[in-house]
Amino acid sequence: MLSKKHLLGIEGMPIPEINDLLDRADYFANRPKQSFPDILSNTTVLNMFFENSTRTRVSFEIAAKRLGASVLNISVNGSSVKKGETLIDTATTLNAMRPDILVARHHASGAPLLLSQHVDAAVINAGDGRHEHPTQALLDALTIKRSLGRIAGLKIAICGDINNSRVARSNLYLLSALGAEVRLVSPATLVSPYFAEMGVPIYTDMEQGIAGCEIVMMLRLQTERMEGREAPSQHEYFHLFGLDTHKLQKAAPDALIMHPGPMNRGVEIDSKIADDNSKSLIRTQVELGVATRMACLEAVAGAKL
Ligand code: ASP
Repeated sequence: MLSKKHLLGIEGMPIPEINDLLDRADYFANRPKQSFPDILSNTTVLNMFFENSTRTRVSFEIAAKRLGASVLNISVNGSSVKKGETLIDTATTLNAMRPDILVARHHASGAPLLLSQHVDAAVINAGDGRHEHPTQALLDALTIKRSLGRIAGLKIAICGDINNSRVARSNLYLLSALGAEVRLVSPATLVSPYFAEMGVPIYTDMEQGIAGCEIVMMLRLQTERMEGREAPSQHEYFHLFGLDTHKLQKAAPDALIMHPGPMNRGVEIDSKIADDNSKSLIRTQVELGVATRMACLEAVAGAKL
């Protein structure tokens, strides 16, 4: 059970609650997929995605259905948001139909928090602007834990477009809370001094940044959130910050690679590495996303097997 009704972010989340969610996700990941009791059979889950998504929306939908919930998907293109309705009007209208859980993705940081203040349903943040993506961080932590048996003490490099990444923020909070040594690797224009003020080690040289790391987590260049010329050309970016076999040699000998997707091959990661299943955890991340979201839905619904 969570101490709060909503799952809006990792920042400030008590460590025992994080561990409970990871344990439950692990439990779901270990069970054959036909064997889940319908613990959410009286639950209606509304997926409200105001920003494009494939894997996260489908992952939430599959997770909810595996636990017997009814699921509705609202995408912005077909909604009255396009006709100018405000977020709060949309939320209160949908709330009147009494969904139990709202899974919300929005381009504005803080939108799920705002929603949570205007609806009776429990709200899960499925990614808000540059702010947080808590279920991604939870599934990433589960992936690391199941692959390496621990998180505490691991050296983890989060590399790329840090400023525009909600994945980076949520992972920084979560992996640090669980005792990992997290460092950020980024062009200076894509990492705000705020992170250095938090005491996080920052590297602007990729090879130095990933040196000795057991996990190298790559991020997409999120040009849709950029305002100006923060990023070099894709060619130059790949040369300096793209993960290729040569740079990877600097990491720990059996280093594992992660990426939340969608990937830009040849920009932040070389296909050879992304597709090398002896090193890449990218497919496992997607797979464990479903179990993680089952645990999150179960927790906000207050249900338990
Ligand atoms: N899918 C992740 C997100 O929604 C990462 C990305 O878009 O690059 O934040």
